[in-house]
Amino acid sequence: MIEFHPTDDSLARLAAGTLEAGPTIVVRTHVDGCERCRNAVGRLEAVGGALLNAIEPVAMQADAYALLEARLDRPAPATKAVAPARAVPANGPIELPAALEGLEIGRWRWLAPGVRRSRVTIPGAPDADLVMYRIGPNRRLPHHGHAGSEYTQVLSGSFFDETGHYRPGDLVEADGDVDHQPRVGPEGECICLAAVEGRMLPNGFFGRMMRPFV
Ligand SMILES: [Zn+2]
Repeated sequence: MIEFHPTDDSLARLAAGTLEAGPTIVVRTHVDGCERCRNAVGRLEAVGGALLNAIEPVAMQADAYALLEARLDRPAPATKAVAPARAVPANGPIELPAALEGLEIGRWRWLAPGVRRSRVTIPGAPDADLVMYRIGPNRRLPHHGHAGSEYTQVLSGSFFDETGHYRPGDLVEADGDVDHQPRVGPEGECICLAAVEGRMLPNGFFGRMMRPFV
């Protein structure tokens, strides 16, 4: 049961193609697995299409072409029966969400004890800050704040902090006011896909918590 969803604003920006490249992949991953958000985006896209002929054209977002390419590279939902792509991390392969099809998945790199990170490169948007994290069970992470909006989708395992307990399928959208001290649940490692909006930052949701360690 998915409990945490992207904000209405993020869904609207996804439908309009104005969400940045990294957050687009994270929110799309959520939407692909969430019927409620899939329906919402479908309605928004229908409304947007109906309005297209009625409004003046506006300047496209700088990475709109990359977003379009990323979308074109993605298989339609109906083709989900195709075997999922696989990354090969040290602890064995994991299933990747369909939204990552066609993207370049980097090697898993050690970031801190029990924490590894893999950078995901989006063709046409090399500066997008899109990463996957895998973090061992029960790992508690230091308090941190952050500057821009961050989108974190739980792929497996879970983590929790003062704001909630996040499980597979949940998307955490946090602005700069939120102060986290996440801890991974005891049931196993947690794998997340995360992106930061705005200029490229050295780390993402989990990564910036690691600054004292790196
Ligand atoms: Zn949802």
